[in-house]
Amino acid sequence: MAWQSPISPGVSWYQDSLGERPQYAAMDGSRTVDVAIIGGGFTGLQAAFNLAKAGVSVALVEGYRFGDGASGRNGGQFGTGQRAWPDEMEKEVGFERSKALFDIAENAKHYVLDFARDHGIDMEFLPGQLNVLHKKSYERTYRQSVEAMRSRYGYGHVSFMEKAETAERLGSDHYHFGVRDTGTGHIHPLKLIAGLAKAAKAAGAQIFEMTPARSINQSGGKTMIETPSGSITAARVLIATNAHIGNLEPVTAAHVMPIRSFIGATVPLDRFPTIIPGKEAVADSRFVVRYFRKTPDNRLLFGGREAYTADSPRDISKHIRKQIAEIYPALQDIEMTHAWGGSVGITLTRQPFVREVMPGVMSIGGFSGHGVMLSNYCGKLYADMVVSRDKALEQFSSLDVPSFPGGTALRAPLLFLALSWYALRDRF
Ligand SMILES: Cc1cc2nc3c(=O)[nH]c(=O)nc-3n(C[C@H](O)[C@H](O)[C@H](O)COP(=O)(O)OP(=O)(O)OC[C@H]3O[C@@H](n4cnc5c(N)ncnc54)[C@H](O)[C@@H]3O)c2cc1C
Repeated sequence: MAWQSPISPGVSWYQDSLGERPQYAAMDGSRTVDVAIIGGGFTGLQAAFNLAKAGVSVALVEGYRFGDGASGRNGGQFGTGQRAWPDEMEKEVGFERSKALFDIAENAKHYVLDFARDHGIDMEFLPGQLNVLHKKSYERTYRQSVEAMRSRYGYGHVSFMEKAETAERLGSDHYHFGVRDTGTGHIHPLKLIAGLAKAAKAAGAQIFEMTPARSINQSGGKTMIETPSGSITAARVLIATNAHIGNLEPVTAAHVMPIRSFIGATVPLDRFPTIIPGKEAVADSRFVVRYFRKTPDNRLLFGGREAYTADSPRDISKHIRKQIAEIYPALQDIEMTHAWGGSVGITLTRQPFVREVMPGVMSIGGFSGHGVMLSNYCGKLYADMVVSRDKALEQFSSLDVPSFPGGTALRAPLLFLALSWYALRDRF
């Protein structure tokens, strides 16, 4: 029977199309290493791989299976730059900083592509992304962003699409305009996770599934992580739990908030050749973003849904199909083969949370729906920092990411209200 993760609803199309999903043993007995990592998503596994490759002794524990968090269940879209458009980012951090963050994201894109190629991982990369406008009034700012990216950020892969081109590339006239980005693309994220775990193990990292970290304690300059089957003592620790931090560490919990996002997969759309004929990934301009893409076998993978509670796969399918039909009325009765959800780790500013939360304990997460390439790269940059005191990670750790107001009791209801407001604003 297909593995059903207890932390996220539904069996994903990724899991069913992966082929065999390699299993890794749970940790058995205590150990001492240079670096301990909690969380087996892109961030944690990339850190483990790069540390082990450099000869650092490293042990990683994952509470369930690798990729059971966001990394194995996401929309697979790389995007370009940071979560915000670079000219928006500029208003917050100035041009130089914004350009440095843009360049880091370009490095991240190339790093992930090179990593997959070098390790023979077929992550089913398909090129292209379309950012489409659900409101006509956004036209001017999107045109400005395209112009800024081309002229000041040296990124010539973007172009503004008029209504006709947008409709043709989407196979729908639902959106007003769009931005085409030929310098990015989308992937099968669980295939990347499977290849990454294999590479980390082969490099010498000790990596364990089904091993939840229960507590983090410090004494005598060492940090101890307790698990049900033993402890890990380490000089340094990386918390890479993202939205799933729970009560493990309060500073991360105050800064990274889980919100649910849901994805549905249709049967192959061979009868509908006009729907995204170029197979680009699509993301729209809603605050509660809708994101969709065609798989190599012609399915539509559609993500979104304006609700923030867990749900059954049948309910997810129903709501996702309704959203699909708003864009593609011909698909109103399309059969959905898979429906699943996951927790997106978001921060108040939607910039990643990268911080030393206890002496020698770094926390990295909260990529706010833009972590497929950035989380991989931040894991690598963490390893670079440990191995050679590289400073690139400071581009993120020096960002001013405040905690959510309301403490752990009030922040979820407050966020629910805020997101409901934005969802309403998206509609009107
Ligand atoms: C539905 C969905 C769609 C998304 N779509 C996109 C997209 O299209 N493009 C994009 O760029 N980003 C997208 N994202 C975000 C992206 O997937 C994440 O930013 C990225 O995967 C984060 O990786 P991570 O390793 O930091 O965290 P995760 O992948 O969430 O990994 C954290 C891991 O820590 C483990 N863990 C937690 N607590 C413990 C503990 N106490 N002990 C041991 N292990 C523990 C969890 O089980 C989990 O496996 C999406 C996310 C979701 C949920």
